[in-house]
Amino acid sequence: MCTTYLGWKIIEELKENKIEIDGFPRLIRLNPFVRFKTRGNGAVSFRIAIDEKDTEKIDLVKKIVLKNIKELSELDCENTNPGVVFYIGDITEEMINYSMKAIHSILTIEDAEKLSNKINAEIYKIKKGRGIIGSLAAISCHLNDFTYEILTYRSSKNYGKKRKINKKSIYKMDEKTYPLTFENIDGKYIAIEPHTSCPILYGIRGENMDILKIAKDIVEVEEEIKGSIIYKTNQHTDIHIQKADKISNMEKYSCYSVSGYLKNDPHIIEGGHVFFTLKDESGEIEAAAYEPTKNFRKIIKKLIKGDQIKLFGGIGCGGTFNIEKIKILDLNKKIKYENPKCHCGKKMTSAGLNKGFKCKKCGFKDPNGKKIAIEEERDLEEKFYETPVMARRHLAKPLIRMKNLNDN
Ligand SMILES: [Zn+2]
Repeated sequence: MCTTYLGWKIIEELKENKIEIDGFPRLIRLNPFVRFKTRGNGAVSFRIAIDEKDTEKIDLVKKIVLKNIKELSELDCENTNPGVVFYIGDITEEMINYSMKAIHSILTIEDAEKLSNKINAEIYKIKKGRGIIGSLAAISCHLNDFTYEILTYRSSKNYGKKRKINKKSIYKMDEKTYPLTFENIDGKYIAIEPHTSCPILYGIRGENMDILKIAKDIVEVEEEIKGSIIYKTNQHTDIHIQKADKISNMEKYSCYSVSGYLKNDPHIIEGGHVFFTLKDESGEIEAAAYEPTKNFRKIIKKLIKGDQIKLFGGIGCGGTFNIEKIKILDLNKKIKYENPKCHCGKKMTSAGLNKGFKCKKCGFKDPNGKKIAIEEERDLEEKFYETPVMARRHLAKPLIRMKNLNDN
């Protein structure tokens, strides 16, 4: 079941029992390249101000959380392996490091259990209980940069049915609130609406809760909204990106920013995926802009051998670097060679191998003629380019959020 929905249900039931949560609930996205994960690889956490000695209240919280998870989890699904962690105390340095590992690399259930034992956190594993890895990370994650997402939920009788959201109102909302909200639309594509059968009606992402409330008021729907919640999240912060000082230091299943130059001109394979090899003094890696990145591929196709670039993205199981955005650092000179012109003005043609050039118009022959190098204009700028909204990962920071494009 959708984790954010579970979070909302639990928080609602806590409220009914006069238990308020402290601050915003959090939606923390973890490493997008982990193989065993839910689709968005997200975990939810929230905090309650509670007296450690008030065991009655603590037990009630635990009861409500566990009851909802047992009732609402789709346990028949092989990939559903929920986990819950309860932790009383302050967030330690070790916990913060653990959460960064959960975002940057791959952790095991044992890793989560080990830390939980050490910090005296209580864990509940359902089935394989893989969810405890993310739960512990969601509790521990320190957010320097963050965004918010408002989520609205449908009535269960509408699950699986077409969402009744007034499209025009979404465009209006975008017009009024962008860039304080973002990732709303992509041309004709509506990005606030999930394209799967889940309890979410829509989700709007933004910089603060006030703008999200304004945005929600603009969006018109023709179906019941069961409820809504605002999560504080690490979405669109690039928290998943590690700085790689050289290509040879990068590993599979992790995300990086890395600089280098093109070893060859990009090539296109069947299905419309664009590939090239990125190189530096330490090694090389294959990089790709896949078909779903649509027009972004046109930018990549314009690159040529020798261009200096910086890539942001991650390395999947095949070892290929999946590009999320690119900064063009230094464009190489693109030279094309043309036949020389005759004194009569006509462009000459080859007179045969090593025989120079001849003019078809006036008959002039130039046995020592050489091709002329012409510098072609590059239809690219030395700046950032990013994948379109519809192909963007939850964690990828859009350029509109990057305050200083020169520092990155
Ligand atoms: Zn001529």
